[in-house]
Amino acid sequence: MSARPLIDSVEFASAGEQLSGSVPVSEFARLGDSLHDAAGALQFEVKGGRDSRQRLRLHMTVTGKVDLLCQRCLGKLIYPLSIQTNLLVLSNGSEADTGEIDDLDGVPATAQTDVWSLVEDEVMLAIPLAPRHAEDQCSPAVKAAGDPAASPFAALAKLAQELNTKNRT
Ligand SMILES: [Zn+2]
Repeated sequence: MSARPLIDSVEFASAGEQLSGSVPVSEFARLGDSLHDAAGALQFEVKGGRDSRQRLRLHMTVTGKVDLLCQRCLGKLIYPLSIQTNLLVLSNGSEADTGEIDDLDGVPATAQTDVWSLVEDEVMLAIPLAPRHAEDQCSPAVKAAGDPAASPFAALAKLAQELNTKNRT
């Protein structure tokens, strides 16, 4: 397991540093209930810099896909992500500026900013609250299982059929 990268957000942004890497989806504990499974990894890139008003910011991109749990059929819903965002570094001086942050998200000015956690924040914002397949792609569990005989519903149907047969004899 690779170490979680920590950055000093102020230094990182003012020096215009860059960091890229990937995070296993299994690291995103807060996504837990939304996930069908924690397979795969997301790619991210963080670049430090300043905005047009010379405020320190982090530009972040996150790409990849997560396997969400379809709320209708409980099947796997592959959800592609392509996130681009600017995070304002909230240093002491800019806290008075909070009203001027516009619609930008902020990151605290700390020496131990957890990059994976920032990535997770963005993923949480990007995924739907109640993910669902499109109507024509959503299949009941019987179909999704591939082998109808293996599904609990098929087993129930078979049982019902047997009972029916017995009742008739
Ligand atoms: Zn579905």
